[in-house]
Amino acid sequence: MEWGCIKCGEEIPQDREFCTGCEEIQFRKIGGLLYIPFVGLIISAISYLLNINESFKAIIENYRSIDINAKVFFISSLTIYVVMFLFAAFILSQFLKRKKLLPNLYISFLIAIIITLSINTYTLYVLIPGVKIGYDELVPIFRSLISALIWIPYFTVSVRVKRTFIK
Ligand SMILES: [Zn+2]
Repeated sequence: MEWGCIKCGEEIPQDREFCTGCEEIQFRKIGGLLYIPFVGLIISAISYLLNINESFKAIIENYRSIDINAKVFFISSLTIYVVMFLFAAFILSQFLKRKKLLPNLYISFLIAIIITLSINTYTLYVLIPGVKIGYDELVPIFRSLISALIWIPYFTVSVRVKRTFIK
């Protein structure tokens, strides 16, 4: 049986999907599974913006009535949200420019999410008396661990990732 390019039908070796010409065109765009982390980055950036707004409001409205520990907690989370928002925005710009650096940046972002969520939960537990750490605090950490376990290997080995981020 003849083995053909799935786009134009040109004969190619069996271990390939596309002929050289179609492969070029295929990998020139952001495609395949890469849409998922791309949309994920946009959603992260938006939720960090919302979090910035919320913590900022909490600080302004309660500044006089909360103790020093609570102030440290709110200011530490606000700082985390600002830094992570800037990080997400920077990675998005590198994604669109298809920079070679992107896979490593994205992997660092996934790790940074886990670290900052853990710091936030820990400072909440230590600095705000009476707070119980439960489902709402632990599920996001668990979810970010799962996402790192999926996307770190993908960004490390995927041929599409290697051929998309080439600049
Ligand atoms: Zn072809």
